Amino acid sequence: MPKEPIRLKGKKLSGGLGCGEAFVYEDVMNRTDEFYDIEDEQVFSEIKRLHEALKQVSSQLEGLANDVREEMDTDLSDVFQAHRMIIEDQTLQEEVEREVSEELMSAGSAVKTVFRRWERRFQSMEAKVGQQKSDDIRDLARQLISALAGVRRHAFEELPEGCILVANRLLPSDTLFLMRRDTAGVLLEEGGAGSHAALFANEIGLPCLAGLENIVQKVKTGDQILIDAGAQEIIIHPSQEDQQNFEAKCEDASKSRSLAIHQSTQPAVTKQGVRISVFANVGSADDTRKAVEMGAEGIGLYRIERIYLNRNTPPGANEMYEELKAGIEPIGDRSVYIRLLDAGADKPLPFMEQLRESNPALGLRGIRFLENYPELLDTQLEVLLRLSADFDLHILVPMVTLPQDMELVKERLDAMADKIGTGQILPIGAMIETPAAALSAKALAEHVDFLSFGTNDLTQYAFAADRENAAVDTYFDDTHAAVFRMLEIVHSDLPDIPLSVCGELAGRPEAIRKLLACGVTTLSVAPPRLPETKQAVRQSD
Ligand code: PEP
Ligand code: MG
Repeated sequence: MPKEPIRLKGKKLSGGLGCGEAFVYEDVMNRTDEFYDIEDEQVFSEIKRLHEALKQVSSQLEGLANDVREEMDTDLSDVFQAHRMIIEDQTLQEEVEREVSEELMSAGSAVKTVFRRWERRFQSMEAKVGQQKSDDIRDLARQLISALAGVRRHAFEELPEGCILVANRLLPSDTLFLMRRDTAGVLLEEGGAGSHAALFANEIGLPCLAGLENIVQKVKTGDQILIDAGAQEIIIHPSQEDQQNFEAKCEDASKSRSLAIHQSTQPAVTKQGVRISVFANVGSADDTRKAVEMGAEGIGLYRIERIYLNRNTPPGANEMYEELKAGIEPIGDRSVYIRLLDAGADKPLPFMEQLRESNPALGLRGIRFLENYPELLDTQLEVLLRLSADFDLHILVPMVTLPQDMELVKERLDAMADKIGTGQILPIGAMIETPAAALSAKALAEHVDFLSFGTNDLTQYAFAADRENAAVDTYFDDTHAAVFRMLEIVHSDLPDIPLSVCGELAGRPEAIRKLLACGVTTLSVAPPRLPETKQAVRQSD
């Protein structure tokens, strides 16, 4: 007798359609065989086991980092290198040893206790980096406990091709195995939009939903599942009719995706014949290469924060010059808009630890931070001036609120141009990310050559809803009329200034017609969104 279909709603981490048999992953952290109390005389042998496990995991991580560097993505390889640094951290190792010797716990229990403690500390941080670090810690605890239990293989090495992975959450080392397998989708109990899982799934176009309560218990390995991530819905044990509807949807989606990709290198022209520039948001050379492949006509937002990550001191001018040059080189002679460092709030930096603010999103972010650390600003301006000799470069200033924010950057840009003896003039524009900037754009106009709407922050500040906080998700609506109203006001106040949008809103096909009606002439989106964005422009009147 066929089982009744079960329909469940989740939260989209990455869109798309997927169908296949479930592979339910039970976390090793939920197993009990490695967690027990010990006697005094076992302390020595438990600590020895702990060190053997640490050594094993450390060498596995080195292997993973090398494999990934050679086979695929350098960012992911950095994640595994960072994991090695955590696992080799003396303080952390000593904390685990103390639990074994003082609390008389097995090595497994001590790892679980100490790593959970760290995981909770990171989870309590609001910032995306804190959430990601908590994933890292859990990932490492899982690998250590597996090593203690004598398991040498990752559970996903047995992941069948084409299956749908059902798990509590997705950790960084898991993503590597998903990348190597042809997985049809991922369903998770936990995971926010800023998690590793979401970024990874989006990057490789893997349908992924989170927030599916107790899904690990509700589904059995082998159950048939359909995922419509766009509609945020899954069907377990679909009926024949469900299956047919789904296949029709897949056929439509695949036809329109193929058509969009086929036409991705063609210009995007509206029905009325207006040409719209479709640029890409990038942060590394890999991103830029992908963007070119997908038809990017330029880089609309280069986020340089990555250059500052995983280091204890800021990069020097030469180092930054080399990294940025490599990052933009694939775009050739097309336009590039590089944003000055947008540190603070959701993008904290390791060397900013001392700057503890009670409300960082309303504190020293973006240009406000650079105003306080002008030496950091000068290094960036020097690098951008030098790069402008070979590229069609533009400067984007993040979190501009008052005219003086722009005045300061322009003064220092002129001073730097004098200092390094270049006559180069760089076009400069403000990111419109606060309601105050949108409503007083006229006051900014004489200091800018163009404006770019950062609708992610503009929405966060207009709705007083933290973009990282899932609890206020319903208030964070970047398609709300209030957002378009601000765009309209800027356009009617400054009809001649070039306007672009580089927030996520620019990549939502349903919003494009409205954006164009607000006078936007450039859209900048994540590389995989380029083909569909161009198609949406072509369908706009
Ligand atoms: C934005 O705020 O919309 C934006 C593009 O900047 P970021 O997402 O990097 O803050
Ligand atoms: Mg922003």
